[in-house]
Amino acid sequence: MYFTQDNHQRSENDSIHPHDQTTEMHRSRNITVSLIHSAKKTHFNRPQPPNDTDLEPYRDSPDETDSHPDDNPAFEEEDPDANQEQIDTARAEELRAQAVVLASFHALAPEPEAGVPANTADDTPTTHSRIEHVKFAQQFIEEISNATLDNGKLDTDVIESLRDPDTSAVDLSDPDIRLSLDLFMACNNASEETYKAVRASIESRFPEAKVLSYYSVKKLVANISGVVSILDDMCIKSCHAFTGPFADLQSCRTCSAPRYDPIQIALTQKKNPQKQACTIPLGPQIQALRRSQHGASAMRYRDKKIQEIFDSLDDPNAVYDDIFCGNDYLDLHERLNLTSDDTTVSFSIDGAQLYQNKKSDTWIAIWIIMDLHPNSRYKKKHVLPALIVPGPDKPDNLDSFMFRSFHHLRALQRENNGLGLCVWDALKATVISSRIIFILGTADAVALTELDGRVGHHGTHGCRLGCDMKGRHKPGTGHYYAVHLKPNNYTVEACNHPDYDFCNPPLRSSVENYHIDLAKVIASRNQAEYERNRKLTGISKPSILNGLDPDFTLPVPLCFSVDLMHLLSLNLGELLIPLWRGLLPCDSTDNRGSWDWVKLVDNVWTEHGKLVAAATQYFPSSFHRPPRNPAEKISSGYKATEYYLYLFGLGPAYFRTILPKKYWWNFCKLIHGVHILVQRSITCQQIREAHSYLVQFVEEFEHIYYQRRPDRIHFCRPVIHTLLHTAPEISRIGPGSYASQFTMERSIGDLGKDIHQPSNPFGNLCQLALRRSQINALKAVCPELDKDAAPHIPKFSHEAGSGYIFLRPRDRNAILLNGPEEEAVLLDCGRSQVLRWGRLRLPNGQVARSKYSESKRTAPNKRISRNVKVVMFLINYLVSYQYLDEYRWSS
Ligand SMILES: [Zn+2]
Ligand SMILES: [Zn+2]
Repeated sequence: MYFTQDNHQRSENDSIHPHDQTTEMHRSRNITVSLIHSAKKTHFNRPQPPNDTDLEPYRDSPDETDSHPDDNPAFEEEDPDANQEQIDTARAEELRAQAVVLASFHALAPEPEAGVPANTADDTPTTHSRIEHVKFAQQFIEEISNATLDNGKLDTDVIESLRDPDTSAVDLSDPDIRLSLDLFMACNNASEETYKAVRASIESRFPEAKVLSYYSVKKLVANISGVVSILDDMCIKSCHAFTGPFADLQSCRTCSAPRYDPIQIALTQKKNPQKQACTIPLGPQIQALRRSQHGASAMRYRDKKIQEIFDSLDDPNAVYDDIFCGNDYLDLHERLNLTSDDTTVSFSIDGAQLYQNKKSDTWIAIWIIMDLHPNSRYKKKHVLPALIVPGPDKPDNLDSFMFRSFHHLRALQRENNGLGLCVWDALKATVISSRIIFILGTADAVALTELDGRVGHHGTHGCRLGCDMKGRHKPGTGHYYAVHLKPNNYTVEACNHPDYDFCNPPLRSSVENYHIDLAKVIASRNQAEYERNRKLTGISKPSILNGLDPDFTLPVPLCFSVDLMHLLSLNLGELLIPLWRGLLPCDSTDNRGSWDWVKLVDNVWTEHGKLVAAATQYFPSSFHRPPRNPAEKISSGYKATEYYLYLFGLGPAYFRTILPKKYWWNFCKLIHGVHILVQRSITCQQIREAHSYLVQFVEEFEHIYYQRRPDRIHFCRPVIHTLLHTAPEISRIGPGSYASQFTMERSIGDLGKDIHQPSNPFGNLCQLALRRSQINALKAVCPELDKDAAPHIPKFSHEAGSGYIFLRPRDRNAILLNGPEEEAVLLDCGRSQVLRWGRLRLPNGQVARSKYSESKRTAPNKRISRNVKVVMFLINYLVSYQYLDEYRWSS
């Protein structure tokens, strides 16, 4: 019913989002909101936080309302003097840290008016942290701050074409050149041998054809696209790259493996690096994007979108439907007066397992060009490879690998004294200056701590968004949890603060606070102090993104947001299901028997599991991976999509008969909030509605599960707190699905698949990634070479007009209809003989299948392909008559 076709307007080849398929399940607007559009109107001030009048405070049994913090004896026992002393000491330490490090951070000193630390390449000596890995991060940042194209390991001809781009159109008039390029691109997924074999066949049949050799055509593609790669030596065990502070090392500083092949050195004295990482610099890839009129026009989406946003500022029904609707981008836009010439990019890095039977982690990073329309932005040909780090292991220092990408970006930002990179714009037919603006950094859970420099630990201020919410821990442990309500009979002095005020929206860390906290971490005098500061601030080192030009960057920490994929699917799934199965640890003072929410046990769990698996056939194939039987598979790599469809698709119905009512109601509040969060288009009212429901869920969760019991503090995992941030983040940075790691992981997965060709399983990953980037650029420069640009119309199909195409299978001979079918068709087209078709391609690219084709499928576990919501006035009309008749009959 709610899995309807019109909910996801995208082509079948498009990125499929598990999130937005269920997005419009609940769009009830039963909450009247007064500040409907104020968030839009105040774009350049603050996002309008959800109004506290929307929030219904939790009310429950008198026992709980009795436990007001002011009444708690433990709260009264605090020694105010001792507290003051602690505060003074902490403050003094903070001031000292600030003084030392803000001075030493002069290289990253704030632009006075922006209030954002800036990196200016002056000669001020920098005080490095005494903590080694913090010091290395600072050194990488300093080198990036001083980056120019000239010190970025680029060949002079590459630098020349970056500064003086080719302005002539690419000449494809020579049929031999065109044939060679077509052939090269057709062999993209095949081996060099295939190209050579086809070339030989063509030349033997058509001796006059002069197909270029593989070497020549490769060189031609490299020349036209302008895309090159930069190779950096790396440890053979992938500990780190020999860049930045490690550039001159002769052996790995982690495992001591030699940088150069020792045998080669012994035999020939030649220094052959044992392994290299590959960076594909962004500049030439950006230049290629505007070299054709088609490409230059596509790059103007952002500018048009901004105009649309400005035009709709007074429209109460305006929606947030891209990152650019968020206040942070709009602020940046206004501050820099961005134009259609500028380019906005995001960076994403992720580990990928490319070889099934071989333990090898490859790290792949990509650039996403935000200026393109979201429908094409995340497509394979528009995702630009940034970095390939061959395994075998997880890098010990990821900064050393990402260094080259950001060094190059910083150099591009510096070009022409900050005016931007020179780019030939085919639409304007002139060379423009394009400022390269960095917007978002995303990564999977492992790499994120490397990219944002935060620690995913249970510290005092453990919130990933760095808000001021202070956690609490159990007596006798230092392990903090995100507990909002003050426990009863609780005597842990440092955590005895009153209940969190749910009526005020959480404020994430500001840029200024981030730098004050960071300064504190950097100034740590020894390991113990560092660990204390790290725990207090949640920061382990400066993010490498601090090296970018602060004028042209959404600054740290604003360039990081909540990743819906991990939060909603994995983190919530891994909390709620074990909770309902009674698998969470039970302290000795607690009694599992009193956990009345534990219902997923024994036979109920087994039967529930079977029901989940039995739902498989009802998930259309576009939903990718339907949930497997959780009773059997939940602990063997249950995927994020499975968790998502299980909890948020099947959950509301399936848990209704299992969970006691108050727990099910609580769960439904979460569901309603989440269904809004994952939409691609969200109104201001929906943001407020989602926030209201999520706050109610969180507050109620603590009341009904943790019940202010110190021995249940561990129920309050960070994910519960993070939910409070998710809705306000939409007004800051747009709907979360545009920055979700789902999108990024799929793009990276596509790239990974391309790179990992069966024909060349152990080939040179870097070469393959480079070839892919060059072909992407070639398609951008010469759109006529892009065979996928126009939708392919298959043989033996039938165009029905208005973008509808009938696709096979089809009846060989016309069949004679009878009964109601005949009547309907006769009425409509005056005939009773028809040819039935199996599939229909819709104008949006999706393919609908008819019963004629579906009923031919006999596989035991076949899945339906689509659920289509059919709205027919005729049917409504008939139905109402039927009811009328029934009514008459019964009365
Ligand atoms: Zn090593
Ligand atoms: Zn927070």
